[in-house]
Amino acid sequence: MIEDNPYSNLIKQIDQAAEYADCDKNIVETLKFPQKSISVSIPLEMNNGNVKIFEGFRVQHNNSRGPYKGGVRFHPLVNLDEIKTLAALMTFKSAVIDIPFGGAKGGVIVDSKKLSEHELKHLTQGYIDKIFEFIGPDTDIPAPDVYTNAQIMAWIMDEYSHIARRHSPEVVTGKPLENEGSLGRDTATAEGAVCVLNEYLKTKNFNPKKTTVAIQGFGNAGENAAEILFSQGLTITGLADSGGAIFNPEGIDPFMAKKHKIKNGSLKNFKGGKNISSEKLLEQKVDILIPAALENVITEKNASKIKTKVIVEIANAPTSLEADKILERRGIDLIPDILANAGGVTVSYFEWVQNRSRNYWTADEVASKLKEKMTAAFSAVHSFAEAKKISMRKAALALAIERICKATKNRGILN
Ligand code: NAD
Repeated sequence: MIEDNPYSNLIKQIDQAAEYADCDKNIVETLKFPQKSISVSIPLEMNNGNVKIFEGFRVQHNNSRGPYKGGVRFHPLVNLDEIKTLAALMTFKSAVIDIPFGGAKGGVIVDSKKLSEHELKHLTQGYIDKIFEFIGPDTDIPAPDVYTNAQIMAWIMDEYSHIARRHSPEVVTGKPLENEGSLGRDTATAEGAVCVLNEYLKTKNFNPKKTTVAIQGFGNAGENAAEILFSQGLTITGLADSGGAIFNPEGIDPFMAKKHKIKNGSLKNFKGGKNISSEKLLEQKVDILIPAALENVITEKNASKIKTKVIVEIANAPTSLEADKILERRGIDLIPDILANAGGVTVSYFEWVQNRSRNYWTADEVASKLKEKMTAAFSAVHSFAEAKKISMRKAALALAIERICKATKNRGILN
């Protein structure tokens, strides 16, 4: 949950959740600090011949359960506190979904939209040159994040392989299919979120045919989630992208909305709904609300106006600490980001396993293994929350802390 000071907020959350975790206090303390923070500068010769220096980071939070794992973000507002927070969230996410990885995150301060493809490629190569000795298939495995994509992952694989003098697809995940990426990676986050949502709906005896959904964010994760839920018979009453939101209590066909967006560049003015603001969409009466765009969109300012039964956090950290308390008080359930959006890292893990064995799975195999992982994680979090009478947010984090603590203790790191 990223607020003004994201890292200190995360520490508060760790302390709150640790009260419910069976875990040595000293080990909990270690989780409040990244194990390693790397800062680099990357000189880049621009197309016009000038040299610009870009700042980059790689933060390795914890590797007690396996190699560090986490995305690389290219964004002008990247900063070390944000990357530290996201690295820690990756440690907890890997533990909740129970894959043998720790957590890391990387970033470069850059407005990548202003770079040519050639400049972007050289920036990526420069970043990998600087962090080469800290990453590797058994050490730290990057992946895509905000404004990085499969193409950039292919460049990362190539640069690492070039320096290492060996073909190393398993050093990075989220690669194109032609470069040993995994089937199902593109829809994994949405599939995973829908899977945990379906498990939740079963516990509440919801009738899918009478259930309404609003989704803020119509990109990779939000659009796929809308299409899957619509295909399951739920009614999508609201959708938003950066150009605005559309709302229709009778329901919106996301496939038609997508066609409109492709043609017009945004969802705005889609005939199947009325235009509203993205902020107002969050306050509409719906059964399920899915933030799938930005951080920190549900805050103490709007939490009391939200009229939903359950929030599914596909976005990372969309809910502030204060908002979380308000929602809990109001009895609104929340499936937290470290569980709801873990489908992406789970299929990244599958990609790494396939790369290591050079044996590639069918789309059905990936989908069924993903479902198995997501269902088990939901069940573990839900049972933990019921047993301790706490929210799923606290339960997911407490469960993750317990698992990391056990692994740390077994290794004899702190005893
Ligand atoms: P994306 O860039 O493909 O899509 C983001 C969407 O959000 C776009 O439709 C954009 O128009 C919209 N958006 C931006 N500003 C908005 C605003 N003010 N109001 C409404 N919509 C707005 O990104 P994505 O991959 O779909 O990721 C979305 C969120 O999910 C991010 O928080 C990301 O960290 C998280 N997430 C994604 C994955 C994944 O595998 N894609 C995995 C884990 C978490």
